[in-house]
Amino acid sequence: MMVPHGSRLLQLSVYSDVNVAILGAGVAGLYASYCCGISAIDCAIIDSSMIPGGQCSSLYPDKKVYGVPGFCNITSREFIGKLTDQCFSFGCKKLFGYTISNISKDAELFVINNDIKAKYIIIATGIGNTLPRIPQTIEGLDTLDPSTGFLQHYCMKIDTYKGKEIVIAGGGDSAVDFVIDITPIAKKVTLIHRRAEFTCERAKLNDLANLEKSGRLVVVTEHSISKLEEKNGKGTITAKDKNANEVSFDANHVVFCYGFITSCNATFGLESLGLQIDNNLIKVNLNTMETSIENCYAIGDVVTYENKKKNIVPCFFEADRVVRMIKNKE
Ligand SMILES: Cc1cc2nc3c(=O)[nH]c(=O)nc-3n(C[C@H](O)[C@H](O)[C@H](O)COP(=O)(O)OP(=O)(O)OC[C@H]3O[C@@H](n4cnc5c(N)ncnc54)[C@H](O)[C@@H]3O)c2cc1C
Repeated sequence: MMVPHGSRLLQLSVYSDVNVAILGAGVAGLYASYCCGISAIDCAIIDSSMIPGGQCSSLYPDKKVYGVPGFCNITSREFIGKLTDQCFSFGCKKLFGYTISNISKDAELFVINNDIKAKYIIIATGIGNTLPRIPQTIEGLDTLDPSTGFLQHYCMKIDTYKGKEIVIAGGGDSAVDFVIDITPIAKKVTLIHRRAEFTCERAKLNDLANLEKSGRLVVVTEHSISKLEEKNGKGTITAKDKNANEVSFDANHVVFCYGFITSCNATFGLESLGLQIDNNLIKVNLNTMETSIENCYAIGDVVTYENKKKNIVPCFFEADRVVRMIKNKE
């Protein structure tokens, strides 16, 4: 998990008072930020992840997205790229790498983690936190600055790696697919896997071998990343084998492909203010998307109403509806 540090806290003061706080930057939250932007409503979008897209980015970036009007044969990653470009074109405030744990009220305003005050909140936290799995025992992890992008996980945009030196950690399909995708455009790629065998599909091992022969890929097995250091936009990645023998590599980015940790959705203590939930999901009035708390709205996979379907299209409808409701109140 990314640990908040100085620069993040500075950012917080910029976002401390907003009209609308959108909690979650999955499809529902992203589209709500677009609807706010086009309606000239001041908003901030907040997410515990360092990248937008929610499940689409964290769980299935390379899968094709089905059922979204106007898009066929598009990967989830491409879809989120287009959606993000559209949604952030209005300059919505963004706070990524920030986990919401508590929401209370101070007179008419909602108070998020005692940091951010908002007149309206839109809960769009979907299936809960999805955080990249990065071993917390790695030395130096807490000292890294998230804004430099040195530390990443596998679903970042491929173009980011053009002409760069990259270290990738992992041995499953996501790690190996990622190596195959970026080695042709990167300057140098090093793949570090803690086991001797890779768990990816067998056909991909031939591709790995060919890339190694080309001299652009170095494969290091039976080593685990033990230390990360960063200086002036570049970093050093140290890995150890079981006998504590160390190897080190300099790189622009280290990319972890160890999958994701998901946690159950939280309601941030809002039950004490009267939030009605059903089976861990937030009950809303479908006409307004308002919850049982005034000015507290919810959209996307986190909500329940009769015939609710958990997929992308309802996120758009619900986001549009909630922002129109807020606009009517202003
Ligand atoms: C494998 C798979 C394939 C799918 N394929 C399709 C498909 O082809 N077509 C389709 O229409 N639908 C598909 N779906 C469903 C679709 O992805 C979801 O309905 C949609 O992404 C829900 O978006 P959301 O914004 O509601 O929630 P999410 O995508 O879950 O986003 C919620 C966001 O809130 C953030 N968050 C949560 N808790 C906190 C917290 N405490 N603090 C800060 N941030 C927090 C999370 O980090 C996340 O970014 C698929 C789902 C899965 C799992």
